[in-house]
Amino acid sequence: MATYTPMIQQYLDIKAQYPDAFLFFRLGDFYEMFFDDAVKAAHELEITLTSRDGGTDERIPMCGVPYHSAQGYIEQLIQKGYKVAICEQVEDPKTAKGVVRREVVQLITPGTVMEGKQLSEKENNYLATVTAFADGTYGFAYADLSTGESRLTLLASFEEVLNELYAIGAREVVVASNFSDEMCEKLKERYDVTISYEDDVALTGFPHEVVRSLSEEKWQVTFARLFNYLVKTQKRSLDHLQPVQVYEIAQYMKMDVYSKRNLELTETIRTKGRKGSLLWLLDETMTAMGGRLLKQWIDRPLLHREKIERRLNMVETLLEYYFERQELRDLLRDVYDLERLAGRVAFGNVNARDLIQLKKSLKQVPDIQTLVEKLDNDDAKELARSIDACSELVDLLEKAIQDNPPLSVKEGGIIKDGYHEMLDRFRDASRNGKTWIAQLESKERELTGIKSLKIGYNRVFGYYIEVTKANLHLLPEGRYERKQTLANAERFITQELKEKEALILEAEEKSMELEYQLFVSIREQVKQFIPRLQKLAKIISQLDVLQCFATVSEENRYTKPRFSNTRELVVKNGRHPVVEKVLGAQIYVPNDCFMNEEREILLITGPNMSGKSTYMRQIALTAILAQIGCFVPADEAVLPIFDQVFTRIGAADDLVSGQSTFMVEMLEARNAIVHATSRSLILFDEIGRGTSTYDGMALAQAMIEYIHDKIGAKTLFSTHYHELTVLEQSLWKLKNVHVSAVEENGKVVFLHKIEDGPADESYGIHVAELAELPPELIERAKKILAELEQQPVRAYKPAERELTQEPFEQLSMFIEEPKPKEPSISKKEKRALQALQSLNLLEMTPLQALNQLYEIQKLLK
Ligand code: ADP
Repeated sequence: MATYTPMIQQYLDIKAQYPDAFLFFRLGDFYEMFFDDAVKAAHELEITLTSRDGGTDERIPMCGVPYHSAQGYIEQLIQKGYKVAICEQVEDPKTAKGVVRREVVQLITPGTVMEGKQLSEKENNYLATVTAFADGTYGFAYADLSTGESRLTLLASFEEVLNELYAIGAREVVVASNFSDEMCEKLKERYDVTISYEDDVALTGFPHEVVRSLSEEKWQVTFARLFNYLVKTQKRSLDHLQPVQVYEIAQYMKMDVYSKRNLELTETIRTKGRKGSLLWLLDETMTAMGGRLLKQWIDRPLLHREKIERRLNMVETLLEYYFERQELRDLLRDVYDLERLAGRVAFGNVNARDLIQLKKSLKQVPDIQTLVEKLDNDDAKELARSIDACSELVDLLEKAIQDNPPLSVKEGGIIKDGYHEMLDRFRDASRNGKTWIAQLESKERELTGIKSLKIGYNRVFGYYIEVTKANLHLLPEGRYERKQTLANAERFITQELKEKEALILEAEEKSMELEYQLFVSIREQVKQFIPRLQKLAKIISQLDVLQCFATVSEENRYTKPRFSNTRELVVKNGRHPVVEKVLGAQIYVPNDCFMNEEREILLITGPNMSGKSTYMRQIALTAILAQIGCFVPADEAVLPIFDQVFTRIGAADDLVSGQSTFMVEMLEARNAIVHATSRSLILFDEIGRGTSTYDGMALAQAMIEYIHDKIGAKTLFSTHYHELTVLEQSLWKLKNVHVSAVEENGKVVFLHKIEDGPADESYGIHVAELAELPPELIERAKKILAELEQQPVRAYKPAERELTQEPFEQLSMFIEEPKPKEPSISKKEKRALQALQSLNLLEMTPLQALNQLYEIQKLLK
């Protein structure tokens, strides 16, 4: 039986260790792929699939990419969620016996990308890990390899794991090989993450300072899985890893996935893009590090009042110091991404230009320090004191690296004169040699009398003396050795020139070699500064986010919020920050909001498109902005500190996870009902819309009652079930508010103004009137409405309710249609009335309305 060639056998052996990755197998100047990998890669990368002989009867499918342009192809595959194992030749083919030894030198995965387009400047790229413990808890950790940060926490449920994953937007999750398949599926489905496996959970071989904080066994296991995976995939020094930070989700305001999405904190619901999100509005950061920190802060509003107030005070100070802030922004503009740079230094892939950027960045630091010191704020002074400008590093780079070095680190031109004696000597030798050659030219001209004689250099022939054919006869015999013949000239060399050339070239070669060595040693020295650079990066990014808050607050006239101990909420002339930005401050109608013990639930009624959801979101965003330490869009704001924010807004189908709108609605509602506390904020927009009227209304009312009686969370509840407004009579903490509208020149104008009291319920008929439906019809509608109001289509009498412990248990009793006690009208009439009542006049054209009326009339005839 034919067997594979040794090289293909080697390929297969290595591939067996990386079954879930594309194996980029180095062959000369190409990375080749074989078998299934080749077929799949040819398809994904749109490259030609060929085949080769591999020793057996069948030809082996093959495709390849050139080594020099591999980066782009690797990025494409990673972008699609694949992994790529880079397999290099690890011995010199010239000296190798048999097949050249090859090894995988790095496994590139979506969560471990260090460079390339998918590494967005202002976003972290996280690799996460989940460990399921026997007691039902989960260990959760994540790291950004490009910056060296890592964090770890323990979570009580898989739901919390999903929330955390959403918050950090991880692209890859590492789990144990026996981790539940069902959960893996959920992760893939929900977040489109790549799943990787790692079973080694022994915490050995980590630098003490990185793992010092991991005192509990669960922490160690969780962390070890993540980092053993990193070590195995990266196969190189991870010197830039910063100490693991252990955190508790209880330190931060909790928001589930739905709420974050609904509030469009970092991406919009429709486009999933940044534009139009709160992050987009806020991002006035000047550095990439600041941009990343801003996103982290938005994802994790604080709970600790003092910490929040300290941020707010800094923002206030920066607002007061206008000129200093502008100067700070200018200085920050020139600060390069120190965190990622530190990562690349550790990985050994920085070039001299990076080091120049590092120097330029560090040169801004003393000015930043002086400026921050001037601010009249204790925290600012403290920050200024802890700034370490790494001046020795600046000195080193200043002395050693040329100001405009080339990209390549191997071709010289990097190190400054005077930095290294030996290098200077080599350079002298080559420079002197060159002067000597210049002098030789005039000497030779004199000697031969040929004025046009010149000395030149090319890579193939080295130095030469060039004489035109016309002058050849003037050359003395013997001394000149012919080297190259051109169309109208001959090139020669002399013994003297040959000797000098050897000296010059040797000096140049040596100087290049030495320069490279010197560069590597400087890079090693920079490595020593990594922890200091990372610490500096932290301070710079904080300053950047704080100045960003001040800048945005000034630009949009935000005010400093205060916090109430009484759990009162007062917002005067509040605005939705993003809608205001998009519409313009002149157009946007500001609104007040007042909530206290007796106004814990606001039931908001009003026509469609009048601004109910905008109003609700504006309150939530105001609370979030306040708790991340930013000023808020209002003239005045006194707020409680919310422990959690829940929302159920809009009808965004969760198509990805294949759930129906109504199911999503109920899931989101459940999240709030089960987890909210009296310190939470709940926004429910049109709950119950996704099902039949009675069904939906019953659910809505039961939820309101449950929140009222059992939770006591501050709640904004918008509804089109006008019937629910009667609840104000029996639920003492619930108040009706509505969005007002007026008629102006025969048109309905939404004022977007929230006022106390329920909305006018004959509103729809007004609109029909304005649409000029026949007066007769309108009169009839008014009469029907009056009659309907006598009918039992109303909220279930609160007095009749009897709340049980479980929120949903009592709901079934509402779901059946309540029977009218004494039918005073015929069945036909009842159907006509119901049809009339269910007309959504706002969404109908006058013609559609007429058609419907015609149908109704037919019923009654
Ligand atoms: P609803 O929830 O009542 O259907 P929305 O909150 O979605 O209404 O608002 C509908 C539109 O009205 C928004 O897209 C926005 O353009 C505008 N709008 C809402 N609130 C205001 C406001 N306070 N000032 C100006 N325009 C507003």
